[in-house]
Amino acid sequence: MSLPPAIAALPARTAELGELLVRWANINSGSGHAAGLARMSAALRSEFGAAFPAATITELAADAPGFNPAGVTALSIRQRPSAPVQVMLCGHYDTVYEADDAFQQCRWLDQCTLNGPGVADMKGGLITLLAALQAFEQTPHAAQVGWEVLLTPDEETGSHGTVQLFQQAGAQHCFGFVFEPARPTGNIIHSRKGTGVFTATCHGRAAHAAKIPNDGRNAVLALAEFLLAIVKIPAELPDVMVNVGNIRGGTAATNVVPHFALAEIDVRITRLADRAPLLARLREQADRISAREGYRLELTGGFNRPPKECLPAEEVAFTEWQRAAADVGVAPFTWVHGAGASDGNFLTAGGLPNLDGLGPLGDALHSDRETCRVDTIAPRAQIVALFLHRVAKGEIKLPALPVRT
Ligand SMILES: [Zn+2]
Repeated sequence: MSLPPAIAALPARTAELGELLVRWANINSGSGHAAGLARMSAALRSEFGAAFPAATITELAADAPGFNPAGVTALSIRQRPSAPVQVMLCGHYDTVYEADDAFQQCRWLDQCTLNGPGVADMKGGLITLLAALQAFEQTPHAAQVGWEVLLTPDEETGSHGTVQLFQQAGAQHCFGFVFEPARPTGNIIHSRKGTGVFTATCHGRAAHAAKIPNDGRNAVLALAEFLLAIVKIPAELPDVMVNVGNIRGGTAATNVVPHFALAEIDVRITRLADRAPLLARLREQADRISAREGYRLELTGGFNRPPKECLPAEEVAFTEWQRAAADVGVAPFTWVHGAGASDGNFLTAGGLPNLDGLGPLGDALHSDRETCRVDTIAPRAQIVALFLHRVAKGEIKLPALPVRT
């Protein structure tokens, strides 16, 4: 099988793409660092602007008071918005490493492996996306496919300022591509858990610890009892995760019965159908404590990203994805369930089928050991470009574009 020349030529760009990755990863763009995000956004704008002079680039406000720093923006880059097939390719340009983090610069561990902040999660993915579209634009049927690239500044903190952009994508596109890193094995993402964060606040009654009889109500102990009960929920609801992330309570003095305690809890679900029973069980345990005289246990918070459950259109696309991978010479891989959430969760919730984990191979994300296999950027970009070329040729059928009203 012969590849279109622009796609066949991608591996020759590996060194140049690696240099671009070093430049981008050396720009600190922690989700809370407004100036760094602005620098990164400007770098993206100039690179995508130069690569696609005919595209329309729009800056979209991504305000989310209490979550995002003021003034941060997402970039939407659109090419051929009236072509018969429309696809969305997306990635985030924020990282978990803030301006004061010790981890700021890249270094090569060997010829192919780059260690650096966000090299895999997901600046390496953004470069894969860019290189794939550059090659696709030179293929003969590209006019049949229009695309939107959505680059966002707040994925690592929950996408509070951009969630609606992902949820609306289902009304404008046929399919989505998410450039989170592939697993170290090369596997991509089949489905992801949905996430939620709850705060359990327990109120009791303060008293002198040595008073007899003692009318104190120990909030620390009651909260502990609640927490020990809720971590057993996954035994009844398989594929649900409950993690007690932190706890505080009491006062500096130990001779006081503490009247207050608080814990934050991370929960994850695999199926949307598990949301209601999980909530019911959390409330049931909270009510058990509140039913006691002198105690009140309040539960606040809620679910953020819904689970990304695998859709039928994704099964079809994944088979084609594997075929394209084989045709460009990438070693066989499969797709796996991920406990971490991504913006792919929001695309699914908005009705847009999508493939996720399409970036280069990455490891040790969210740590100063984060690495990207730079030699996998070009081959992964080849898969994307060949898949889109086959869509443009009519060889792969994506779901129809929703009727615009
Ligand atoms: Zn990510």
